[in-house]
Amino acid sequence: MKKVAVIGGGFAGLTAAAELASAGAKVTLFEKSPTLGGKAQVVTADGVTLDTGPTLLTLPDVVRGVFARIHASDLLPKFTRLSLQARYSWADGRTFDCHEALDATAKSAEQFGAKESAGIRSFYAEAEKTFRAAGEPYLEAPFEGMPEFLARVFKKQGATGLINGMQLSTLDSLAKRHFHSPQLRQFANRFATYAGASPYRATAAFALIPHIERALGVHHVEGGMGALVTALARALERLGVVLRLGETATWVEKKSELIAGPPGGESPFDAVVVNADPFSNEPLGTRPLAMSGYVALLQTTRRLPLAHHHVVFGNDYVREFDELFSGQVPSDPTIYFCHPAATDASMAPEGRSGVFAMVNAPAMRTSGEVEAWSEHARVLREKCIATLKKVVPVDDVQFIAERTPVDLAQRGAPGGSIYGFLPHGKFGPFERPKIRSSTRGVFFAGGSTHPGGGVPMVMLSGHFAATLALKEVTFGGPS
Ligand SMILES: Cc1cc2nc3c(=O)[nH]c(=O)nc-3n(C[C@H](O)[C@H](O)[C@H](O)COP(=O)(O)OP(=O)(O)OC[C@H]3O[C@@H](n4cnc5c(N)ncnc54)[C@H](O)[C@@H]3O)c2cc1C
Repeated sequence: MKKVAVIGGGFAGLTAAAELASAGAKVTLFEKSPTLGGKAQVVTADGVTLDTGPTLLTLPDVVRGVFARIHASDLLPKFTRLSLQARYSWADGRTFDCHEALDATAKSAEQFGAKESAGIRSFYAEAEKTFRAAGEPYLEAPFEGMPEFLARVFKKQGATGLINGMQLSTLDSLAKRHFHSPQLRQFANRFATYAGASPYRATAAFALIPHIERALGVHHVEGGMGALVTALARALERLGVVLRLGETATWVEKKSELIAGPPGGESPFDAVVVNADPFSNEPLGTRPLAMSGYVALLQTTRRLPLAHHHVVFGNDYVREFDELFSGQVPSDPTIYFCHPAATDASMAPEGRSGVFAMVNAPAMRTSGEVEAWSEHARVLREKCIATLKKVVPVDDVQFIAERTPVDLAQRGAPGGSIYGFLPHGKFGPFERPKIRSSTRGVFFAGGSTHPGGGVPMVMLSGHFAATLALKEVTFGGPS
């Protein structure tokens, strides 16, 4: 029986551990925190349950695929597909509803100008083309280098696919081609933030995200994202994975042997999957990092008429990203509210609501920024509460808890960055650290590596890492 160490119990590490154990490896998972889930943690207060990290699930078949491969589909929580995917609003009181149904979204766009409804249709058509040309080949296998990737694109799309891929500009220029109103440009540009990036510097390839949401749905996990972590933890138990919680592990190659484990408790392994961020050992400021975020968890003493996902845009998106990528907390931030009780009664007692509010924030560039976060948090907390009160008529908003970049950094995220690697530039997504490391038998899995951040992406990363590691331990080398 081959021995594999998994370092880190985020979604990527949990997936890799489960798939490796399911394939017959003897797996030990080291997690430095006392709880599994990494960025996906949960807070419960007075019967209100709120995720502190991910809230929205895309690509549900990636998750179902993992649970099927590890024979744990019976543990999978229920997913609810939202017909109103997100509501967007602005200070002038206008509201845009993005539905799964294209006709309804196009209708909602009409208020922003005569051509905007057609813009919605052409935007989603281009988003689908982008997904077919770049997204599918990027997501279907581990990225091992440009020649192999381009061969996959060519096989699926022919020369036109390759040419289309090379012509991609920024997400903002794509938004400008389809929309005239600043509001709908903001809507399209927001999808760059799913990778912690600026729409003014990230490739238009990120338009594949709205296509994925429209075609495959925006989903709520019953009980919250934390329920998915619990389900994976139960699967690991069933598969006999040895869980070593509260243990910070390292790995090293010594005389062509891989040694991993906590200081003083290291032992040899045939392969190691590292779910710790590959940049976590670099000094802060070594490289630009994807955005971090501030989260406030709130509750109200009545059930709010608030959509499940509601984004309140700041007035000047260009300035907001300029501030974010020059290290400042935005002065007029866009705020994302998640109100899970709108869909799932188990998330809050009857007649009450829990609300997750999130503001994009810069990743920290020096440890000197830690101290400033108590004041930034106070300002942002007040902005989140004041904005919620403008969106829905509610007087009584109680603060439960908050998470800042400092908290994320304490869990191993470099500078508190949510997505780690910053994919700016035309070829940004291809410059991520690869899953296969330069040390034989060591594989990286997680948000900074291929294919990127977000729950389904890191689960794919864990799946790819497990597949490569299994090939290596079974056949003694890359195949
Ligand atoms: C506020 C917020 C909102 C988000 N919203 C969404 C969303 O709506 N939808 C979505 O899909 N995604 C969202 N995300 C992103 C998503 O949560 C992450 O991309 C994903 O959970 C990252 O998983 P991971 O496995 O890469 O790493 P992590 O979750 O960071 O896990 C890594 C684990 O490794 C452990 N570790 C690190 N070093 C060591 C070591 N040396 N030894 C032992 N253990 C170690 C850490 O403690 C941690 O538990 C959000 C994230 C945040 C923070």
